Amino acid sequence: APHDPMDHTIPAEGFIRVRGAREHNLQDVYADIPRDRIVAFTGVSGSGKSSLAFGTVFAEAQRRFLESVAPYARRLIAQGSTPHVDSIEGLPPAVALQQRRGAPSTRSTVGTLTTLSNSVRMLYSRAGTYPAGAEQLYSDSFSPNTAVGACPRCHGLGTAHEVTEASAVHDPSLSIRDGAITAWPGAWQGKNLRDVTAVLGYDIERPWRELPQEDRDWLLFTEEQPVVEVHPKRDRVAKPYKGRFWSARQYTLHTLADSQSETQRNKAMRFVESGPCQLCHGSGLTRAALAVTFGGLSIADLNALPLSEVAEVLRPAALLTDPSPAQSRVTSGERSEVAKSIAADLLARVEVLTGLGLGYLGLDRATPTLSPGETQRLRIATQLRSGLFGVVYVLDEPSAGLHPADAESLVQVLDDLRASGNSVFVVEHDMDIVRRADWIVDVGPGAGSGGGRVLYSGPPEGLADVTESVTRRYLQPRTSPVEHEEREPVGTLELRDLTLHNLRGEDGNGLDVDLPLGVMTAVTGVSGSGKSSLVGGVLPAVATAHPLISRVVEVDQKPIGRTPRSNLATYTGMFDAVRQAFAATEDARERGWTAGRFSFNVEGGRCEVCQGEGSVSVELLFLPGSWAPCPECHGARYNAETLEVRRAGATIADVLGMTVDDAAEALADLPAAARALDALRSVGLGYLRLGQPAPELSGGEAQRIKLATELQRARSGHTLYLLDEPTTGLHPADVELLTAQLQRLTDAGNTVVVVEHVMSVVAQADHVVDMGPAGGDQGGRVVATGTPAEAAASPDSRTAPYLRAALG
Ligand code: ADP
Ligand code: ADP
Ligand code: ZN
Ligand code: ZN
Repeated sequence: APHDPMDHTIPAEGFIRVRGAREHNLQDVYADIPRDRIVAFTGVSGSGKSSLAFGTVFAEAQRRFLESVAPYARRLIAQGSTPHVDSIEGLPPAVALQQRRGAPSTRSTVGTLTTLSNSVRMLYSRAGTYPAGAEQLYSDSFSPNTAVGACPRCHGLGTAHEVTEASAVHDPSLSIRDGAITAWPGAWQGKNLRDVTAVLGYDIERPWRELPQEDRDWLLFTEEQPVVEVHPKRDRVAKPYKGRFWSARQYTLHTLADSQSETQRNKAMRFVESGPCQLCHGSGLTRAALAVTFGGLSIADLNALPLSEVAEVLRPAALLTDPSPAQSRVTSGERSEVAKSIAADLLARVEVLTGLGLGYLGLDRATPTLSPGETQRLRIATQLRSGLFGVVYVLDEPSAGLHPADAESLVQVLDDLRASGNSVFVVEHDMDIVRRADWIVDVGPGAGSGGGRVLYSGPPEGLADVTESVTRRYLQPRTSPVEHEEREPVGTLELRDLTLHNLRGEDGNGLDVDLPLGVMTAVTGVSGSGKSSLVGGVLPAVATAHPLISRVVEVDQKPIGRTPRSNLATYTGMFDAVRQAFAATEDARERGWTAGRFSFNVEGGRCEVCQGEGSVSVELLFLPGSWAPCPECHGARYNAETLEVRRAGATIADVLGMTVDDAAEALADLPAAARALDALRSVGLGYLRLGQPAPELSGGEAQRIKLATELQRARSGHTLYLLDEPTTGLHPADVELLTAQLQRLTDAGNTVVVVEHVMSVVAQADHVVDMGPAGGDQGGRVVATGTPAEAAASPDSRTAPYLRAALG
């Protein structure tokens, strides 16, 4: 029977029963959450949604899974990731799809991430058109990542790395003994190579540039690897040994191709000149594989097409009405049963992706260049085909990066996951998606210690009666129009002939855009339309050169630091004031301690076991590296002596343990700290603890800390602020706070340019640039521009209808 979204009756046994959850700020939470439904976890940021969905439900499911597969890992797990919860009953296995930057592996692509590449290779192998007389190739032959498939010259990388004299020898005035051949390894191995070179009769004392060219060429490029006996001269104890010669080229290419160490490979990259491989034209494939076609395209051609066009190439085969039986000895299998079945399967999967607004991506797009939202949607779509059922999928804001026009297909995909017998839990702020869920778990009411309770768990319509809920006010579409007085621009930034990625103009030239200065501009458009290319790719460089702009600041979601050593107190600079205040106490002055004593970054006052990190890194089997509290200071970061000094009753470690809200009171007498704390509260971060390590902060929190740091500088004017989707991870109530701060920045005479999908923010901008009309090659142009009202009136813009609704 079709799923009736209004039918919320769930048999009693169909629940996950969470009892006594106390992870992070959760206050002894009891909640019954239905299985086999789409459940939205809502609440302001910091309220505890993630602590419940990821930190408790998912973490417990994962802990049980790990225990079952690796009992010996139990001790490690107990240290690292046991959630604080009394019991959870009815818990199925869980899969978390979080927004992470693509895997660091540079060989990972959209095709490999989605596993579509496997089927594409199968299609070319079994149903491709082969040149006359050519042998049929196995699927592996179409993969640059296999021994049979890799281009012999570039080893499948597609990029050729050539060692040249200039790239391998950085300072030709040095002798070989002094390290002229920079590309050779250092330490023992390097000394070994120099000794071998001397035994071979080369002059290792003369400056490189004075050696005969012939010798230089041999040393750098030869493929010979003579083995000689080396008698270490200077060291009488060392025994003679046999040493093998490696030319700079051999050594560097060997490191690039075979080294397991990323550091080594990165180092080797400094000694090569890189460009597309001439043999395979950058595809990484062999000539034999490239000669096979489907729909007239080689597999490299197909991989370079946007998915929306891949669908069109596959469609004729997928829709064949009278396919011929499979045969192995014809030159083309394009009209065979095999072609039909592989193409039909591929087409269905590609269409899920195009439905999620990702049709502009190509299969060969490297995953590190994808946004976190794009990566997550690729993963969600891939899960549809995994055949798993009875699983809880826990998703982190799947709407991130999604234009409102594409929200419908996202809900459809989530519903397909549910319909194949799974539970779908989403931490979500987009009310268009929350409304469509079967069930809402609303956490709150506030953030940090002001939240952490489940205020409501039930069908969406019931939330209206929960007076304590902040979410309640936003669940129904707003009816009152947004009030906003538009500002007058003080100048114009003229961007001309832009061509980055898909940006282009009407007439075959690049794109021309005028950006008004001294106002707030919202850049809108469907995913892939070119918003980030314009705002992140082009603007910073162009704007720096403009006389009316003194500074360009990109307020992005990158972490404020990668180790527990960074936190918001150090990042905002307020910690300097705090340390000075501690040094000024009578107790500290008597001991002769200065501000340095209260730093956890230098020796003296810090705990030396963890060197002031408060935690030590533990490498868990199967789990990415994580951190456990320091066994000596238990997270305090300081040694016991330092903690004897108190200011207004608190030790320096106590201060780092305070929330921003509490610190605002305790440090009210320190103007520099108070300013920073005020700014943090004004962007809704009052719940964060000052010492909360940077790696624990979400992308959205990091971005708002950066914004607050800018706000406290109280600089007036002439700065250009660039923000890419600053509302990611924000509850509508937090979005209101953020928008108010962006207005404040603009009122101070700055220019704000924000890429945004949330129409309540766009409606409050002074100016709108709507990119489109679609993604990839179908985008890259300005579809509508002007005031929000003008843009909303555009007949061609996919954004206009949603903007009209927000303008009321
Ligand atoms: P939400 O998902 O609703 O934004 P979180 O569950 O991430 O909220 O956070 C709830 C509270 O727990 C916040 O006060 C946050 O600062 C705190 N918190 C989150 N992660 C950690 C962590 N790894 N360690 C300690 N506290 C944390
Ligand atoms: P939006 O921000 O509107 O989602 P983008 O500016 O990210 O759009 O992308 C516009 C086009 O440029 C898309 O076709 C996208 O695939 C392409 N693109 C974006 N970043 C890269 C990149 N690093 N390498 C290659 N193509 C890219
Ligand atoms: Zn090649
Ligand atoms: Zn310690």
